Amino acid sequence: MCIFCSIIEGNIPSKKVYEDDETLAILDISQTTKGHTLVMPKKHYDNFLAMPSKEFGKLMEKTKDIAAKVTRNLDAKGCNILINTNEVAGQSVMHTHVHIIPRYDETDTVSFSFTENKLDLDEVLRQINQD
Ligand code: 5GP
Ligand code: ZN
Repeated sequence: MCIFCSIIEGNIPSKKVYEDDETLAILDISQTTKGHTLVMPKKHYDNFLAMPSKEFGKLMEKTKDIAAKVTRNLDAKGCNILINTNEVAGQSVMHTHVHIIPRYDETDTVSFSFTENKLDLDEVLRQINQD
């Protein structure tokens, strides 16, 4: 059983931010920023690409409401919503989850950088739309 399934089953303690029949939101143990929250479906899917779209849609609707509450009540100025998918993208727990990372100022401990690559955009589009 994966670690998040064990948390959902109640075999490992967690700090619950929200729970219903299908969804659990808990405080991330790392607290990258204050209020860092993980929203997960109770049903195990390795990653969001493996979820039926309808279930993923519901997960994101709940994520939006939880993100609004966390951001508002912790006086954050914004938040990042992040889904790491597969090891190459930094996924370390193979039970899909959405990170809510409240942001307080631009010099906090979180950073994302997007470097530019000179690629042929028409060729990229051709590959994406090939089937
Ligand atoms: P990932 O890297 O897979 O996107 O994120 C996994 C997250 O789960 C990490 O941010 C990590 O801190 C958190 N995490 C791992 N184990 C536990 C745990 O036992 N309890 C809680 N609350 N968070 C955990
Ligand atoms: Zn699981």
